[in-house]
Amino acid sequence: MDVLRLSRERLLDLAGRTSFDRGLEYLGQVSGLRRGEGVVHATVRGHRRYRVRITTEGAFFWCCDCPWAEEGNCCKHVVAVSLVHLHEREHGESAPPVSDISSYLHGLDREQLVELLLEEAGYSHPLSFALEVRAAVAAQDTEALRALCEGALRVTEPVPYDQADEYARAVHNAVDGTRIGGVRSDRSRHGTLQRGSRLHQ
Ligand SMILES: [Zn+2]
Repeated sequence: MDVLRLSRERLLDLAGRTSFDRGLEYLGQVSGLRRGEGVVHATVRGHRRYRVRITTEGAFFWCCDCPWAEEGNCCKHVVAVSLVHLHEREHGESAPPVSDISSYLHGLDREQLVELLLEEAGYSHPLSFALEVRAAVAAQDTEALRALCEGALRVTEPVPYDQADEYARAVHNAVDGTRIGGVRSDRSRHGTLQRGSRLHQ
């Protein structure tokens, strides 16, 4: 048996007793569990809704967009999703499959993609900020870029814990935008997972 595979023992080992026990308290907050090929996605309600992805085949890797996981730690949200997944697997219940976002987006034409992004940006401050940074970089408008970054990144007092992840995301977006000039970075999609992977290889 592969000792790196997902199991309760492996979870406890990775998360530590404190995060593991806190994960137990979050079992009821797990929703939207969906299975893909070798992965499970779900959201966990906490200070906000955290998005979690775990691997269910081969060595266990995880990804969560909370600050603790973004530092490479196995967080309580990952513990909660993993335990719900293990329970469902053992009791024969299966979560609905993950919808294929990539195929859906490839099926849209340019105009539909622009409309979709503008609509979603209206609901999401991080997405709207990321797009504004990219637009300023594409236009080589350094003044607009500076104003955007200053507005988003300046803090006059310590960032509260429940806003830390949003602030970290703004920093990432600003750095990505200025560094890559509009070319999509892979970091935001895979960074946490790979960082976690390296830590536990
Ligand atoms: Zn987390």
